[in-house]
Amino acid sequence: MRVLLVEDDEPIAESLTRGLSRYGFEVQWVRTGAEALTAGDFAMVLVDLGLPDMDGLDVCRELRARGDVPIIVISARSDEVDRVVGLEIGADDYVTKPFGVREVIARMRAVLRRVQPAQPEPEAHGRVRIDRRARRVHLDGGEVELTPKEFDLLAFLAEEPGAVFTREQIMEAVWDENWFGPTKTLDVHVGVLRRKLGDAASLETVRGVGFRLVLP
Ligand code: CA
Repeated sequence: MRVLLVEDDEPIAESLTRGLSRYGFEVQWVRTGAEALTAGDFAMVLVDLGLPDMDGLDVCRELRARGDVPIIVISARSDEVDRVVGLEIGADDYVTKPFGVREVIARMRAVLRRVQPAQPEPEAHGRVRIDRRARRVHLDGGEVELTPKEFDLLAFLAEEPGAVFTREQIMEAVWDENWFGPTKTLDVHVGVLRRKLGDAASLETVRGVGFRLVLP
């Protein structure tokens, strides 16, 4: 899914671009309102309010006048007035700085659910079916009981079967945004998932790197 990120703060834009890419979003980053308004069509737009050339609210207003692309405002202004104004001029939601990538993705998914009422089918990966919306996993038609973290871990790895994710990437995506501590809990969860999924999926250890999910 193509996402336009309008943000002049480089560290924020870089970490957001990296984080969203990891979840499969294709991010185009621009720094100014003028660039945003000439960037073309996207499935979603994330707009910072404090841009160097114009007010982010005006960018929202202009985008909204052109069509119904979902817009999420990224705001450093924490006062309620701006939030209300942002939503009144047609933004679909907002996040307030500082925020974590997971929070932004949760908002994006919530907005997409609202604007796209038709729900995607659960993903079928061989004998395993993952229903992200209902957060349920079925194996050969029977439900596999997973804890929330087990589900998050499986859902994360299943976003790109076959790809190797580092321990840090997994910890950041599934547990917390910036994880520098021990990752033993990850091994424990991997072990449980292996047991619960049996030979329907294999969670391969890539020594010294991380894990990948291989689905037949
Ligand atoms: Ca800014």
